[in-house]
Amino acid sequence: MTAPQPKPWIMDIAPYVPGRSQTDDGRKVAKLSSNENPLGTSPKAREAFDGADRSLERYPDAGAAELREALADKHGLDPARIIYGTGSDEVLHLAAGAFAGPGDEIVFVKYGFAVYEIAARRVGATPVVAPDKDYATDVDAILAAVTERTRVVFVANPNNPTGTFTPREEIARLHASLPKSVLLVLDHAYSEYLTAEEDDHGLKLAMTEPNVLVTRTFSKIYGLAAERIGWGYASADIIGAMHRIRAPFNVTTAGQQAAIAALGDDDFTDASREHNRKWLGWFTEQVEAMGNAGLRAIPSKANFLLVLFEGEVSAETAYKGLMDKGYITRWLPGQGLGEGLRISIGTEDEVRGVAAALREIVTG
Ligand SMILES: *Cc1c(COP(=O)(O)O)cnc(C)c1O
Repeated sequence: MTAPQPKPWIMDIAPYVPGRSQTDDGRKVAKLSSNENPLGTSPKAREAFDGADRSLERYPDAGAAELREALADKHGLDPARIIYGTGSDEVLHLAAGAFAGPGDEIVFVKYGFAVYEIAARRVGATPVVAPDKDYATDVDAILAAVTERTRVVFVANPNNPTGTFTPREEIARLHASLPKSVLLVLDHAYSEYLTAEEDDHGLKLAMTEPNVLVTRTFSKIYGLAAERIGWGYASADIIGAMHRIRAPFNVTTAGQQAAIAALGDDDFTDASREHNRKWLGWFTEQVEAMGNAGLRAIPSKANFLLVLFEGEVSAETAYKGLMDKGYITRWLPGQGLGEGLRISIGTEDEVRGVAAALREIVTG
């Protein structure tokens, strides 16, 4: 050997492809590719961020004590059972890393979040894909994919990139049917977009069940994607295992302060949820009205819509056409989703604009 050799399971990883922010020819355009908050960030969070401790030579609070207290207050949790990450992506990696390794299996759905496969392969575990049910999560298919080697099951609810939602009863049935030795990770990156009645009660499950981890993020409705802050809630034993492999000082001082302030700004999250409800509904209707051109909207409860192209105009053609017209969407052939575009709900102008551009493209 003439050079260091990466582990074979690392070279099996297809690198994560982030949503683009520029067109092929470098123009800055409407970025509807990463499910960011079109209303920006909470003014209170911005103020806290700007006023955060200026002592750049000091490490942040390694225990994120104030942030955990604020989260515990907000959601009625035990602060000792909260873990925090550099984005909830890190929390997902910690779950895979603490509970799975070579020879173990990690199950997720076919059109699932791209990080699950990377998290599984990174630790040498085998990713196992459960088939979808018309793009939605199929609890029976997940259960059928579970073997005595399964250590972790990842379920995003609502799911990304499909936007589909699995009701509370189905999540409860999934949990009840899984072996107690399997960690069920409920990825709630979009749960703030649900109404209280719709909530799947994942946090309630995590409060009492020793094999449930809920992950959440400040990147989506809270509009703090740049600061990379996520968190998770599970039993003390699960959290304790994950802390052992967490990078020390993994959340910045300014990020912790901004997140605490964001938690206290219900006006901003309420406005963000309402904006999304209104424009997701409007955009879904627009796409449905293009049904005769072969477009189909997968019903979404997140801050984006998966649009399928089942007629003459392909998703690839629409992706390129929209980019020409100044709208960057997400085309995911690498995830086996070459027939659809995931389009984030932007500002009113952006949503109206992308709908009009789409109509021009498909009606030619
Ligand atoms: C965006 C997203 C995340 C996490 O994002 P972070 O910025 O790392 O917190 C996690 N899961 C799903 C399904 C997502 O869409």
